[in-house]
Amino acid sequence: MSVYLDNAATTAVAPEVVESMIPVLRDSYGNPSSSHAIGRKSRVIIEQSRRAIARHLQCHAKTIYFTSGGTEADNLALRSAVRDLKCQRIITSAAEHSAVIKTAESLARSEGIVLELVNHFRDGTVDLEHLSALLSSGPKTLVSLMHANNEVGVLQDLDRIGTMCKEHGALFHSDTVQTMCHYPFDLSKLPIDFVTCSAHKFHGPKGIGFLYIAEGLNVGGQIEGGSQERAVRAGTESIHSIVGLAKAMEMAYHDLNEHECHIRALKAQMVTGLKSLFSDIRFNGNSDDSSRLYTVLNVSFPPHPKNGMALFLLDLEGVACSGGSACSSGATLGSHVLRALQFHDSERASLRFSFGRYNTEADIDEALVAIEKVFA
Ligand code: PLP
Repeated sequence: MSVYLDNAATTAVAPEVVESMIPVLRDSYGNPSSSHAIGRKSRVIIEQSRRAIARHLQCHAKTIYFTSGGTEADNLALRSAVRDLKCQRIITSAAEHSAVIKTAESLARSEGIVLELVNHFRDGTVDLEHLSALLSSGPKTLVSLMHANNEVGVLQDLDRIGTMCKEHGALFHSDTVQTMCHYPFDLSKLPIDFVTCSAHKFHGPKGIGFLYIAEGLNVGGQIEGGSQERAVRAGTESIHSIVGLAKAMEMAYHDLNEHECHIRALKAQMVTGLKSLFSDIRFNGNSDDSSRLYTVLNVSFPPHPKNGMALFLLDLEGVACSGGSACSSGATLGSHVLRALQFHDSERASLRFSFGRYNTEADIDEALVAIEKVFA
C-alpha cells in the first residue's frame, strides 16, 4: 500500500507534462542564445511558453522571469528590492517560508536593512491594523507576505495588503507557491510587484519556476554572467522544464473548478474520518475550514505515547505526509510555522496531509485505516 498525501511538498509530474517535455529534451538542443536557426528554434519555444503563462495570469510576457524554482524567485524578489530598488526595510512574518525569512535575515545582516515582523491573529491571519501601523512610518519598504501558508493553509487577502502597500508607497511581494495554479490570478488588477511560482507544486517538473516582476521595476538581477532573462537571471535556460511548467499551468487552469471540487471532497472525507476516530482532534489554523487553502489539512492529534514516532510509523504503513516545515517530509525538526502561530504542542503530533490531482477516495480510506492503527 502506498498513499501519497504530501502534495504541498511536491506533486507527481503529470504524464501529459512528461509527454510535452520529451520532444523538447530530445530535439530542441540548440542554445536559445545562439544566432543560428537551431538556437532560434529553442528561443521561440521559450518565448511561446512565457506568453502562454502570461495569458493565464493576465500579465505581459516580459514580466515573467524564469528561475530554478520558488526559493530562487523569493531570493530574487527580496534581494532586488533591497539592492536595486533601494528598500531599506522588509516587513514580513515569522510564519513565512524559510526562503523569505532566511533571505530577509541575511539582508538585514549584510545590507543593514530593518527587518520587522507583522503580528498574526490566533487563526493565523495577518493583523492588518498592525501592518498599517508599521507602514505608516519608516523608510522605503518591501512587504513580503505569502498568499497561503504551506503548512497550515491560512490564506491572506492579497488585494487588501497590496492596496495598503500602494497607499504607503511600499513594494509588495507574495510567495504564491502554494496557490498558483490552484486559484485564478489576474495580475492586471492585483496591486502587487512580485509574485513567486514553482512548477513542482502543480504537477510540473522540479527545478523550474518564475518570478513575476511588475512592469516599470528596474531590477538588475542576482546571478551574473550572461544576458538571459533580460540580464536578470544569467545561465542557459532549461527549455524542457520551461515547456513542462507551461503545460502544467495549462492543465491546471483548464479544469481548475473540477480540481478544486475533487480535492475539497477528499479533504472533507479526511476531516469526517478523523473526527470519527478521535474526539479530541484539532485542525491547526482552522485548516478544515472552507476558507483555507483547500489542498492542505494540518492536524494536531490527541496526546499519545507514539506522538514522536507518528510520521515514521505512518510511513511504515505506506502513508506519506509531512511533519514539519515545507518540503521536508520525514524531517524531525519542529515546525517554525506552528511555533510562530502558537499551534505547537509538544504533547501532540502535528501532521500535514496535502492532497493532489491523483488522490482518490480509496487513498483517504487507506490513510484513515493506517492512522487508526498507528494511534490505536
Ligand atoms: N515557498 C513555499 C510557500 C513553498 O511551499 C516552497 C516549497 O518548498 C517554496 C517556496 C520553495 O520552492 P522550490 O522548492 O521550488 O524552491
